[in-house]
Amino acid sequence: MNVARHSYITHLEAAIDGTEFEPGSIQTTHGGRPLWVRYDLERIAREVDREVLRSRPATLWRYEELLPLETGQEIVTLGERTTPLLPCPALGRKLGVPRLQIKDESLLPTGSFKSRGQALAVTMAKHFGVRRLAIPTAGNAGGAMAAYAARAGLEAFVFMPRDTPSINRFECLLAGAKTRLVDGLIGDCGRIVRERSEEMGWFDLSTLKEPYRLEGKKTMGLELAEQLGWHLPDVIIYPTGGGTGLIGMWKAFQELKAVGWLDSKTMPRMVAAQSDGCCPIVDAFERGERFAETHVAPATIATGLRVPSAIGDFMILDALHESQGRAVKVEEKRILPYMKKAVAAEGLAICPETATCLIAAEMLATSGWIHPDEHVVIFNTGTAQKYPEVLSSDLLQLERPEKQVNGTRR
Ligand SMILES: *Cc1c(COP(=O)(O)O)cnc(C)c1O
Repeated sequence: MNVARHSYITHLEAAIDGTEFEPGSIQTTHGGRPLWVRYDLERIAREVDREVLRSRPATLWRYEELLPLETGQEIVTLGERTTPLLPCPALGRKLGVPRLQIKDESLLPTGSFKSRGQALAVTMAKHFGVRRLAIPTAGNAGGAMAAYAARAGLEAFVFMPRDTPSINRFECLLAGAKTRLVDGLIGDCGRIVRERSEEMGWFDLSTLKEPYRLEGKKTMGLELAEQLGWHLPDVIIYPTGGGTGLIGMWKAFQELKAVGWLDSKTMPRMVAAQSDGCCPIVDAFERGERFAETHVAPATIATGLRVPSAIGDFMILDALHESQGRAVKVEEKRILPYMKKAVAAEGLAICPETATCLIAAEMLATSGWIHPDEHVVIFNTGTAQKYPEVLSSDLLQLERPEKQVNGTRR
């Protein structure tokens, strides 16, 4: 496998109180809250010109100065290509945001952006000598972890709610992960991982319980900036569950600004979209609080957003406030119709999570918070094909048998 050439990592920093930790060892959380990976951004600004990127392969590893790799470290990769940023004018006009672009993360390995996080998390875990990985998951994170663990030759244990989409269960089983269905929610899966980790020798890859997954998700923001010629859009709308995508991108933009690679003067307004079936971040935002309360009885077909309580809640809410963005909840019953609307308008098979962003875009355009001239970017975080239960409950009603008479078609 490829080998990293540079290391600019300086330390790890507790997000809740700034306590610093040495890099170079496997770290988890501080006070039950996440850690940031910090780099020597001044040195990168001095030593690295963004033009170096031109000669590098179009994968997420091209941003290696801003990744937590140590010099000479091997990486675990399934060939994570740069994902396309597609103009969607027909859909955008329907929603009142004609300058809409969708970054299609469904083309990544295992069909979702979760592979960005797991590529980094598994690379780092292997580097630190971990042999056994465990993860509680709403679906896609487990599938991605199982694939990268197989690639790395590590043992994988995946815990998911019993009603997780079948494809997510199958992809874990196919990759040889020990896959357990839990009668409960992702939080119950997380509790099992926590309670049994010591006895089982598991390393816990839960969202934000180790700092490196976030660095992988960050590459969405780095890639977006480079694709737009180092100009950022006016508004980014992101389907928010555990929040790593949104937090990671906001971190990416701060780092790009600090190393002097950005040409835009202004930062995007970050919008977190959630379904009203599970919207703890929206509720906290509306109450003006920094920490979210657990959403009771969460229910949404956007399984990636079925996260009733996120340990990075304050990091999500800080990013929304710092960027002058906001959190928006959309009606659960509109998700499936908007999936259809997107595919019919643009041929782009978006996941239910992303449909929440389209609905939010329309609401914000209608209220005037987004101006029709503004450049809006939405992420298609996963592929629609991973949700057969959701699709078949509705779409099969649209199928009509073709009538056959005497063996000839009419
Ligand atoms: C996990 C997931 C999300 C939520 O992402 P976070 O970074 O955890 O907030 C959104 N969409 C899909 C398809 C996912 O799998």
